[in-house]
Order: sequence, then C-alpha cells, then structure tokens
Amino acid sequence: MTAFRRTLKSAADLADAGLIGRERVAQIAGVETRYAVAATPAMAALIDGADDTIARQFIPDPRELDRHPAERDDPIGDALKSPVPGVVHRYPDRALLKLTAVCPVYCRFCFRRETVGPGKATALTDAELANALAYVHAHPEIWEVILTGGDPLILSPRRIAEVTGALAAIPHVKILRWHTRVPVVAPERVTEELVEALSSSAKTVYVALHTNHARELTDLARMACARIIDSGIAMVSQTVLLRGVNDDADTLEALMRALVEMRVKPYYLHHGDLAPGTAHFRTTIAKGQELMRTLRARLSGLALPTYVLDIPGAHGKVPVGPQYLSTAADGYTVQDAHGEAHTYEDCCAGPQPMTAIL
Ligand code: SF4
Repeated sequence: MTAFRRTLKSAADLADAGLIGRERVAQIAGVETRYAVAATPAMAALIDGADDTIARQFIPDPRELDRHPAERDDPIGDALKSPVPGVVHRYPDRALLKLTAVCPVYCRFCFRRETVGPGKATALTDAELANALAYVHAHPEIWEVILTGGDPLILSPRRIAEVTGALAAIPHVKILRWHTRVPVVAPERVTEELVEALSSSAKTVYVALHTNHARELTDLARMACARIIDSGIAMVSQTVLLRGVNDDADTLEALMRALVEMRVKPYYLHHGDLAPGTAHFRTTIAKGQELMRTLRARLSGLALPTYVLDIPGAHGKVPVGPQYLSTAADGYTVQDAHGEAHTYEDCCAGPQPMTAIL
C-alpha cells in the first residue's frame, strides 16, 4: 500500500500520484472545473488497480457531466425547507444544522455536490451560527439536531466544542447527531480533543458514519470509531447504494457485519439521490429491494440497515421495501425471508378497524 502525505485535490495530483494515467487528466478536466475533487491520504492509499471500489468514489469520471433530465441541483430539497441559513427543518422534531460546506474528500456521487467544495460558501459565520441556534432555540418541537454539511468533523475541535456547548444549553434539544465521513477518510483527525469536543454530559450524542465498503474500514478507521464509542458516544452508519462499489449482496453483507463488529449499528442504506451527473452510480429501486431481501435472509436484524429513498422535492425519507406482506381474503399473505409465502390470520380480541397499512 502506497503512503500519501497530503490530500490529492486535482486530476493532475491524481496523475502525479500514479492513481490515473496522464491521458485521463484531459478527459476529466471539465469535471474538475465543475465539481470539487479531493482524496485524502487514507483513501488514496486504498486505490488499487485491481479493485476500483474506492477509486470510483473519489476519482472524477467524464460521465459526471451527463445530466439526466430527472436530476436536480438540490435533489432532496434542502433549500425548500431552510428557514434561515444553515438550518433545514424538514421534519417537526429534528433539524439539520449545516455547519460547513467543506469536506475532507469529495465523493463523486455526493447529493450536495452543487453546494459543497471550494468556491462555494464555506462555514457558517459566527452571526449565521448564532441565528441558526436562535432558530433552534425558538422551536421547542426540535428534539434532535443533526450536525452536517459538508462534513462538520472537519471543523476545529474548538469550533465543535462551541457548537456542542451552545446546543447543550437548549433544554428541548435532547439528541445531537453528527454526520461524518472523517473516521474513515481521515481517521487521524479523531483525536482525544475532537472526541472531547463532541461529548456532552447534558445531551445524548450520536455519530453517524458514512461508509460504503468494508475496505474503507482500515485498522486506523476502526481505532477512530473505537475512540468515539469508548467515550460514550453511540455510532450508527449510513451507506449509499452505489453501482460498481457495493451493489452486490456479498459486499453489503461484509460491510454490515464489519460495522456491527465495530459497535456501529447499520442505520440507512440510501438509494442514490438524483444529484446531477450521478446516473452511472444509481441502481434501480428493484435492484436495491432484491439486495435487501438477500441481506435479510443472511443477517441478523442488528446488521440490517433500512433501505430508504429521500423523496425529491423535500418530502422526506421513507423506507422503500421490499414488502413482505400483502392482503388476502382471510387476512394476509406474508413472505418469509427466503420468499416462501404463508397465510396469516390477523386475529385479536375485541373489535378493531380493519385498516391495513401496506
Ligand atoms: S463527505 Fe458527504 S457531503 Fe462531503 S462530498 Fe462526500 S457525500 Fe458529499
């Protein structure tokens, strides 16, 4: 494995590092003008000609300039639900606080690719942060604050501690959830100081790790997660279903098992959002359902994420199957994990309205 000393931030950097051929630099010049490029030393070291599961996530591809008519600059409608800069309030009991538009890596399939990276707004200013916190303060229905970006763990521990402290002082906020790729893509940033900045004696803190392949879970990444969890912070994971990266059952199974072994609960498997130039990464929903059906037959519930679609237009996230239950004349037909159908008589004591929710 080659050791890299700095983040590779351009096609020329990738070529100089020997990760792409010189002829590719011209091919992807238009892409790097349009979308940010960054591969950290930890990820660059995993790029291997024999296995492109990591390369596909970080090396630009000319197909990123092919825009499908269904794709949108703001695929999940953040802007439609943003009452003040930095806040997205899509569901009553939770709000996103987008602290920064900078990431340690730039994923080629990013759903916020039009708003992250150099040349975009960077971090919230002090005044914007104060205004965003005032919004959270003024909305007692907000029980959970999801710290996101960009990647908020790229901020300094001092800034993170300020945010933790400010949210800890809002009585109705009970849960702080930090969404990040840092423990995997830049595990060296997960220092004792960072973990201390995330910790709060007043609130329950979660870290949601974005990871897409078990190869990302290096020894250093595992140590970074262990440091977070050992401090009392719970971890969950989110994975994007990506064609050519993890769209097979064996790969997803290996990832989910590894996460549970690391004490990270698999939380979401996201169907790819309709971000511009990402059609080559998306599978069909039917393919995702088939994979989930296979995973359910192989894995314990502890290792199963929920397969979700973020409905374009800011309508929120919903599970998208597969379905195991269908109505039948005398109750329900329910399939077991192996696809065998069984009848189920829905009986209970006393009268009940017969409203099936399928
Ligand atoms: S780390 Fe997240 S926000 Fe940043 S580029 Fe990757 S997917 Fe997008």
